[in-house]
Amino acid sequence: MAIQYDLHSHSTASDGSLSPSELVRLAKLRNIDVLALTDHDNIDGIREARLEADKVGLQLVAGAELSVSWGHKTLHIVGLNLDIDHPDLLKGLRQLCEFRQWRSEEIARRLAKKRIEGALVGAQTFAKGKIIGRVHFARFLIEQGYAKDMRQVFKRYLVQGKPGYVPGDWATLEEALGWIHGAGGQAVIAHPARYRLSATRLRQLLGEFQELGGEALEVVSGSHSRDEIQHMAQLCQRNGLLASAGSDYHGPENPYMDMGKLPAMPGNCVPVWESPAWAQTQTGQIEAIPVSSAAL
Ligand code: AMP
Ligand code: MN
Ligand code: MN
Ligand code: MN
Repeated sequence: MAIQYDLHSHSTASDGSLSPSELVRLAKLRNIDVLALTDHDNIDGIREARLEADKVGLQLVAGAELSVSWGHKTLHIVGLNLDIDHPDLLKGLRQLCEFRQWRSEEIARRLAKKRIEGALVGAQTFAKGKIIGRVHFARFLIEQGYAKDMRQVFKRYLVQGKPGYVPGDWATLEEALGWIHGAGGQAVIAHPARYRLSATRLRQLLGEFQELGGEALEVVSGSHSRDEIQHMAQLCQRNGLLASAGSDYHGPENPYMDMGKLPAMPGNCVPVWESPAWAQTQTGQIEAIPVSSAAL
């Protein structure tokens, strides 16, 4: 059987609903061999996930999904095989978390103007880690009866033009790629079909991304249709980019993005896990294991 990869997933360290250990156990049950934990703007779940992965016999890739402002859009860049102790990465993540903290206060202020009180404390009760995101506000608003489900609550309150939306001031593309590469990782544009970019803007993005040394596009994604997968595969092939695959799993209450059900990688692209850079990070990891266990 071919090795099963899922290189995009979330835990309670950001806006997922399973703990890192629960997530790893589920991945194992779903026959995933290599799982990347890629929480938004933090790596706090990685150590726990790694321990559990060692226990159940699964390979855990240390990742993160970084929020980037590009023009008027927010983009997500997944970093894979990160050295989670790298000081520049940690400093970058701190910067993103500080913006997240301010943004959460601002979201609450804006909701209060619409007579929705107590949103910050409400969202905080749903956040298990130090990251607060729109999903935590969404859960609070649903609990309070402002909407019936995630889809509706985002549409009514949390997307651009709605009361609880605050424009992003995230990392630049250059910063995010700098942190990822500084930490020895590979950079992947997450769910590229989700940004509603025109063909011209998408071409510009790929150009800038590649100039900065960006490696891959997420071709297979839990949020891509079959046509979008084919389109992104073609873009990889034409531009000499590698291809990644990830479910973007957030937990069992999002049934439309399940785990272990990803379509196969199209044959016309080169998977990121077949690149020399990937192989190098794996060698590094294998060498690192005896050292760390000897230190225990
Ligand atoms: P944030 O980084 O805090 O702005 O939140 C972004 C996250 O919100 C995404 O990673 C998804 O988990 C979730 N999200 C964004 N848009 C939607 C939507 N329309 N419906 C449901 N969840 C969404
Ligand atoms: Mn999310
Ligand atoms: Mn994303
Ligand atoms: Mn994600």
